[in-house]
Amino acid sequence: AKSNGKNSYEIYTDAIIDPVNDRLQLENILDRAISDCKLFLHYQPQLDILTGKIIGIEALLRCQDLHGNSLSPAELIPIAEETGSIVPIGEWVIRTACQQNKIWQDLGLGDFPIAVNFSVKQLQNRNLIETIATILAETGLPATALEIEITESIAIKDLDLTISILQSLRQIGVKISLDDFGTGYSSLAALKYLPLDRLKIDRSFMQGLRANSIDVCIVRTIINLGHELNLNVVAEGVETVEQFECLRSINCDAVQGFLFSRPLTASELEVAIATGSYL
Ligand code: C2E
Ligand code: CA
Ligand code: CA
Ligand code: CA
Repeated sequence: AKSNGKNSYEIYTDAIIDPVNDRLQLENILDRAISDCKLFLHYQPQLDILTGKIIGIEALLRCQDLHGNSLSPAELIPIAEETGSIVPIGEWVIRTACQQNKIWQDLGLGDFPIAVNFSVKQLQNRNLIETIATILAETGLPATALEIEITESIAIKDLDLTISILQSLRQIGVKISLDDFGTGYSSLAALKYLPLDRLKIDRSFMQGLRANSIDVCIVRTIINLGHELNLNVVAEGVETVEQFECLRSINCDAVQGFLFSRPLTASELEVAIATGSYL
């Protein structure tokens, strides 16, 4: 534990002392990642809270450098956004996720949407609709089997453009999910203006989820609000049975989290699905 502490301290000071060099290294890794195909996706199921049936699968970006070290998307995405490489990376993510879901549909694993995370740069790109339509046509995946996850912060950047792009996507059948709900600004405004199918309650509310806690009060209210707006409500970051049972008692629709499954490779997930139920 002592050496762990020291390691992370050293990483931290490096970042403070030489941010430019760190950035350059990361950008190089990103370039290589694309050209050497070191990007891959992990998949995490979202389950119906009553039946345990898979109602969706979230695709999560993974990146490995040439030495096999992992980079978290939380580090990678902000830099990719700044350099602009988020657009090709994002397109690769959509295509790969759609291809994979088409394979799963053809295998008869189920008829669930694959959820892909979107960043602001992608959503402010008018070519997005055409890009997605092309990917769906190429992969043969029905539009209803693709879901995009956006955050409130994306949504409020340029509201009119965001709304019109989301409406066009929804018209062709793509599902829209509001991610990390309850954090950031104007979450209620986002609900008011955006065309949405699903709400994902941020995992920061899960830790304190027990009878009579503030978190359960907030989460119950979010669930009721979502239902009044005809939205499907998913809780993310569910780690304990206590949290799960609490969510079930307040009528949450679906759950996602380490309690049921970590994000897995496609083949690991296929094995998990084949070998039994999650709940
Ligand atoms: P997110 O969209 O909120 O994704 C959920 C994150 O929570 C994932 O982290 C997932 O591995 C983690 N997680 C799932 N279940 C649990 C749990 O029970 N407990 C805890 N503590 N964590 C859990 P990950 O994969 O590191 O991704 C971090 C963030 O990076 C994502 O947050 C998302 O905002 C972003 N991201 C990931 N993939 C992509 C992508 O392809 N494109 C874009 N633009 N952003 C991405
Ligand atoms: Ca997400
Ligand atoms: Ca989230
Ligand atoms: Ca997020």
